Amino acid sequence: MTIIETHAHLDYPDFAPDFADVLRRAEEADVTRIVTIGTSLESSMRAVELAEKYPSVFAVIGVHPTYAEEAVDDVIDPLRELAKSRRVVAIGETGLDYHRLPSVELSKERKTQVFAKALQTSTEEEIEADIHDGAYKSKQASLFEQQLDLAVELGLNVVIHQRDAWDDTLEIMRPYSGKLRGVFHCFGGTREQAEEVITLDHLVSFTGIVTFKNGASVREVASQIPLWKFMVETDCPYLAPVPFRGKRCEPWHTRLVAESIANARGVPLQEIAEATTETAEKFFRFC
Ligand SMILES: [Zn+2]
Repeated sequence: MTIIETHAHLDYPDFAPDFADVLRRAEEADVTRIVTIGTSLESSMRAVELAEKYPSVFAVIGVHPTYAEEAVDDVIDPLRELAKSRRVVAIGETGLDYHRLPSVELSKERKTQVFAKALQTSTEEEIEADIHDGAYKSKQASLFEQQLDLAVELGLNVVIHQRDAWDDTLEIMRPYSGKLRGVFHCFGGTREQAEEVITLDHLVSFTGIVTFKNGASVREVASQIPLWKFMVETDCPYLAPVPFRGKRCEPWHTRLVAESIANARGVPLQEIAEATTETAEKFFRFC
């Protein structure tokens, strides 16, 4: 049996102390290939280095939307340079994330400071925050489009990060339909949303959330969508599945994600492993 971990952040410092053990445990759990995902230019560079060093590791390079503010305006050229490595198997993770808009952060801050602010100041701050929201969103959109353009140019697919920005994400991807495929990673949406992306020939992938007690709705989506339209991942070091919740997540946990989906669908693990491996082999440019 072989399982492909399609979304790990192996370049994060969390894995530095016992990197060799992390890879060994993956192999022992039949997680034979690991796709490590870049979140900034520096992180993408580290991802490529790891992929060139370890035969079971492959790299996806990109700039994550929550790093948009720090990112340079033009990421196409440096990413194109990095993509020359044959170990680069897709572009990403990229997309839109409106979860921490400046205005949202401001209202959170306000809740703790209600009595300290006069009404007048609040309104001015709100206008300011709206302007920042606009700038932040358009920088995210610009980086997203650059990465989609590069993916088309290089004939690669794209790992999509989407949070609280569903409509805008699909809107930006619309013109690219038929030119590339995306995987909506860490899928947490409804069955309708899953069907929407599948109809556009994209994929979804599931993390350890499918094992959570409060993950029933995602588990249900994972049990209902077509077998050939999803992949498995961990998003480690985050989102460790049950029974490791709250601990550091690592690539071998992909097996637990696959097991949980197999249980939910009432099929053997082998079937999920085979199908998701074949799907990942078609989606990523493994050399
Ligand atoms: Zn990620």
